[in-house]
Amino acid sequence: MDNLVHELHQEHSAAINCLECANCCRCLGPAIYDKDIERMAKALRMKPVDVVTNYLRMDEDGDYVFNTMPCPFLMPDNYCSIYEARPKACREYPHTDRKKFFQIYKLTVKNISTCPIAFEVMAHLIEE
Ligand code: SF4
Ligand code: SF4
Repeated sequence: MDNLVHELHQEHSAAINCLECANCCRCLGPAIYDKDIERMAKALRMKPVDVVTNYLRMDEDGDYVFNTMPCPFLMPDNYCSIYEARPKACREYPHTDRKKFFQIYKLTVKNISTCPIAFEVMAHLIEE
């Protein structure tokens, strides 16, 4: 399944312009971990504790997420103002190039309501 999904990922992530979408930055709250906070703090020239105070909150699962949605770093033109230092979860979304895709099959079914790339990958995967 990975070979097929990764092929579909390449095809559809190349065809869809994330800058015309930004749905994930508008509606999803990526989990943010210590390494993400350190990287963001460096880029923002802030102390990690100030990143937490200013931009994050803890969700019901005990993970840090952004304290506002749309994301506080999403700019009006849909660019990310901390792109090089964005959290790992942002870099990897929608995860359709991940190894052992079967492990995130259910998550990807959920993501089709947010992400056109996930939608196209799943639609073509079902066709195949
Ligand atoms: S929701 Fe999907 S297509 Fe839209 S910006 Fe995010 S990754 Fe790109
Ligand atoms: S940090 Fe950047 S890529 Fe991640 S949700 Fe915010 S705007 Fe989007």
